[in-house]
Amino acid sequence: MKFINLTRRTEIGANSYYLEIGRHQVVLDCGMHPKNTGEDALPHLKAIADREIEAILISHAHQDHIGTVPVAMRRFPGARVFMTEATAEIGNVLLHNSVNVMTRQREEIREMSYPLFTHREIDRASERWRWCPLRQRISTAGERAPQRERDALTFEFFEAGHVLGSVGILLRAEGKTVFYTGDVNFDDQTIMQAAAFPEEKIDVLIMECTRGDHAKPDGWTRPGEERRLAEALGRAFERGAGVLIPVFALGKTQEILAMLYKFRRESRKLSGEFPIYIGGLSSKMTDIYDRRAHITGRQLPRLQLMREAAPFILNDETVRDAPLRARHVYVLSSGMMIPKTLSNVFARRLIEKPQHSISFVGYANPESPAGLLREAGTGGEVALDPDKPAQRIRCHIEQFQFSAHATREALIDYAKRLSPKKIVLVHGDPPAVEWMRAQLDADLPDTDVIVPVPGVELEL
Ligand SMILES: [Zn+2]
Ligand SMILES: [Zn+2]
Repeated sequence: MKFINLTRRTEIGANSYYLEIGRHQVVLDCGMHPKNTGEDALPHLKAIADREIEAILISHAHQDHIGTVPVAMRRFPGARVFMTEATAEIGNVLLHNSVNVMTRQREEIREMSYPLFTHREIDRASERWRWCPLRQRISTAGERAPQRERDALTFEFFEAGHVLGSVGILLRAEGKTVFYTGDVNFDDQTIMQAAAFPEEKIDVLIMECTRGDHAKPDGWTRPGEERRLAEALGRAFERGAGVLIPVFALGKTQEILAMLYKFRRESRKLSGEFPIYIGGLSSKMTDIYDRRAHITGRQLPRLQLMREAAPFILNDETVRDAPLRARHVYVLSSGMMIPKTLSNVFARRLIEKPQHSISFVGYANPESPAGLLREAGTGGEVALDPDKPAQRIRCHIEQFQFSAHATREALIDYAKRLSPKKIVLVHGDPPAVEWMRAQLDADLPDTDVIVPVPGVELEL
C-alpha cells in the first residue's frame, strides 16, 4: 500500500490524498485551498501525473474537499468519480459559484489561470459523477457487491455527521482495509446527527485532526452552548445591536438557521420576529437541505428552513448598502471572512460601531481575516481587506463553539476502539496534528502513527 499527501502543506487547504492498494490507484477528495489562489490553491496533482487513477472518491461538498474535482477529471479522464447524491447536488452549486468567484478574481488579483474551469465543464463533469448510497459495497468499476471478484477494489460510504451528504470511506482490496474519515463529527449538531462509522478491524486509518489543538472545554454541551448564544443575542438586542455571524455557506448556515428558528419559539427574550439575512449561495444550499429533509437521517426532519426561518437574501451588491439594524441577525458567508465575501464586506461596515456584535461560531484559520479579528478583539485594530485601511474594532466580539468537527477526545477514542496497525494524520494545522500524534503514540504503542510529509510517497 502506498500513500501520498497531495495537500501542499500540513494544513487544512486543498485536501487531497493518493492511495495505492495493490494495483489499484485512487484519489480521496480533491479540494481547493480556501485562502490561496492560482496554482497554490490546487492539490499537488503533479506528484501523481504519471499514474493511472481509476477512481476519485469525494467525502463531502466543502470547497476544501471537492473544489478542484473538474481539474482532476481533466487530468485523469479515465477515473470514475463517486460521491453521495446530496454531495453531488451541493457540489454542483458550489462549483458553479466557484467559477463566478474565480472569474471576478481574474480581474481583481490578475490571476490569469482563472477560472480553472468553466460552467460548461462543470455541467459535463457532474453528468459523469456516480451517486452511491450509504453502507453498500461498490467496486471502483461501479458495480454493487462484487465479492466474487477477488482483486476488485471496493469502497463503502458511512454517515460522517459533518454536513449534509458527508461520509467516511472504507476501502477494501487484496485482504487489506483502509478507512478515511473525511471530516467527521461524533456528536449530534442541531440538524446533523452524529457519525455512524465502522467499528470493525481495519489496517490503516486516515484521520482528520481539525480540532487537535483545542481541548474540549469543561462542561461544554451543545444544548448549553445554544443557550449561551440565545442569551448573547438577547443582550445584544436589548442594547440595540445588529449581530453578524460569519458562517460557511454549507453546514454552518443551516445549523444556525435551525437554532434561530428554535430561539424564536422557545426563548422569551427572542420570541416573535427578528429578521435574519443570509447570502445567495447559502440560500441555494439551504434549499437542498429543505428538499432532502425527509430523506435524510437528521434532527428536525420536518423543519423547512427557507419557509420557517424565512431569511432575507443579500447579494454582493445589496450587502454594501442593506440597512444595519437593531434586532437583525446577519448570517453571512464566508466563515473565515475572506476579502470580498459578504461577511467581510458587512463586517467592515459594522466593526467601528460599539453597539453591534460579531459572533464567531466555528473554525477559522488563524491567519484568515476572521482569525485576525478574533485574535485582536474589541479595542484592537484589524485590516479585514488588505486593499483597504485597517480599522479600530469597537463592536462586541463573541466566540461560540458549534464546530461541525469531532472533538480531539472523540477522535482519539475512535482510533483506540479500532486500534489499527497504522494511523495517517491529515486535515489539521501543525499544532493540531502534532498533539494528535503525541497522544496516539502514548495511547496506542503498537500502532504506527504517521504525519505524511506533503508530496512524498509513503509505503504503508
Ligand atoms: Zn468539511
Ligand atoms: Zn475540511
